[in-house]
Order: sequence, then structure tokens, then C-alpha cells
Amino acid sequence: MIIVVCVKQVPATTDAKIDPETKRIIREGTKSVLNPFDLYAIEEAIRIREKVGGEVCVLSMGPESAKNVLIEALSMGADRAFLLCGREFAGSDTWATSYALSRAIKTVGGVDLILCGKQAVDGDTAQVGPGIAAQLDLMQAANVSKVEEITSDAVTVSRMTENGFDVLRLKLPALLTVLKDINEPRVPTLKDARKARAAEITVWGSGDIGADPDLIGLNASPTRVVKTEPPAVRNTVTVKLGGEPADAAKALVGEMIGRGLL
Ligand SMILES: Cc1cc2nc3c(=O)[nH]c(=O)nc-3n(C[C@H](O)[C@H](O)[C@H](O)COP(=O)(O)OP(=O)(O)OC[C@H]3O[C@@H](n4cnc5c(N)ncnc54)[C@H](O)[C@@H]3O)c2cc1C
Repeated sequence: MIIVVCVKQVPATTDAKIDPETKRIIREGTKSVLNPFDLYAIEEAIRIREKVGGEVCVLSMGPESAKNVLIEALSMGADRAFLLCGREFAGSDTWATSYALSRAIKTVGGVDLILCGKQAVDGDTAQVGPGIAAQLDLMQAANVSKVEEITSDAVTVSRMTENGFDVLRLKLPALLTVLKDINEPRVPTLKDARKARAAEITVWGSGDIGADPDLIGLNASPTRVVKTEPPAVRNTVTVKLGGEPADAAKALVGEMIGRGLL
């Protein structure tokens, strides 16, 4: 089974600055890390490979420095790594990103399963996974908390909804976006990390994946960021309530009524 995991490099800080002109995150000078949700997608792919055999490929679209997140994935146990890199991809929104990643997945070839994180902690849209599935016309399940069963032609998953869980059976090839509940990602050994640093990363430009130049980059991105602003700072008050739980609950309700919150 060939599994592709899409991984994104995101700013390490929660204190990211926004360029007032372009309304885009200022990434220069910011330390970057692997998007936390993608760690769970990598771990799940490796667990599936351990069960049914095959290969785990990791794929990222980003600058040269995104090689670092691919190396991290390799050190966890991924077999091959691909980076989509080039000026032509710069400024891509979720639409153009989904298209470029879907072209790369086609170029890998014979892919049975695609895993993504639930969302990226910077862009936060949760659109890219479903966007790739739409581009490739695949079945998809978002917010997957458990892979119940996987065979060579289908995967059964639990998907979290607002009201509980759905159990879905998807014909392969399919795409899943995963939640943090799905597993506990392994910590690579020093030896694995060293080996991963020496591994080869395949770098592709738009020509290598047969991407239509009119469908990638800023000009192909229909999203317009009209305004960005930091969330309003909330004044929080901490009140310590002691005693029996029933008394504390009553006191809490009293506090909330007193502060006009109930
Ligand atoms: C006009 C415009 C210009 C932009 N220009 C840039 C830019 O130049 N550089 C930039 O980094 N961002 C840019 N962005 C932001 C960019 O659209 C998003 O970061 C990107 O499309 C992913 O969306 P997201 O962060 O919401 O990911 P989500 O949809 O929340 O991510 C879900 C999952 O999709 C996968 N995924 C997402 N992005 C990638 C990726 N790049 N590679 C591999 N897997 C991925 C991961 O598995 C991730 O967990 C721009 C946005 C707009 C609107």
C-alpha cells in the first residue's frame, strides 16, 4: 500500500506577525516547526504500513527550509520525501495549494491512501485535505479519530462529528484528515534522526508534476484577505472555590450570576 502524508511547515510561535500591506503572515525570521496535527498523520501512516506493508511517502509544499519537516517525518519512519518548491508556487492559497499537492500525489503514482492533519495551526482553514480529495475525485473523511480496519481495497474509520461519531467505510484510494486523539506519535531515536538527515529528498518544481502554471501561485489564488486583526483580549478572573463539590458548584453559579454571566 502506498500512503502519502501531506505535511506543512508552520511558524513555531503563536505570536506571528501579519504584514499590514499583504495581510500575510511574516515568516521571515520566525522559527518553523512541523504542523503538530501532521505528526499524528505520519504516525498513523507508519502504523498502517506496519500492519499491511507498503510505503509511506511524505509531501510538503513550501520553501527550501521545509526540508526540515520532511527530515523529521523520515526520522519517525517515513520511507520517501518530496518537496514542492519554487517561486511559481509562492502565494498559493488553499485552492492552489490543493491543486499543486494533488498533482504531486498523481506524480508519485499508485497512491492508495492520503493522510493530512486536521488543520494547519497557522492558516487554520482545514481546507487543504478536502481540497486534495476534490481535485483527485476521491472519497474522504475529515476529523478521523480511529482507523478501525484497513484492507487492500477499503478503510473503515470513526469520524468525530458535533453529535458523536460516524463509522464510515471508504473505498480506496481515499483521503483522511486526522485528529490528535488518533494515536501517540513516536519520538525518533538519535540514530534515526541522524539517518534521516542523510536521506535524499526529491525536490519538484511545477514542470515535474505537470502543473498548469495558470493554476498555481498568487495569481491562481481566488482568496482575498480583506482584513486581519488579533483576537480581542479577554479579561479573565480566577476565583478559587473550596469545599464539597456540590457547595463549590453552587458558589460557582452564584459567582457567575453576580458577574452577569448567567
Ligand atoms: C492570497 C494568499 C496568499 C498566500 N500565500 C502563502 C505563501 O506564500 N506561503 C504560505 O506558506 N502560505 C500562503 N498562504 C496561506 C496558504 O493558503 C495556506 O497556508 C495553505 O494553503 C494551507 O492552508 P491552511 O494553512 O489553512 O492549511 P489547512 O487546510 O488547515 O491544512 C490541513 C492539512 O493540509 C495539509 N497541508 C496544508 N498545507 C500544506 C502544504 N503547504 N504542504 C503540504 N501539506 C499541506 C497538512 O496535512 C495540514 O495538516 C496564502 C494565503 C492566501 C489567501
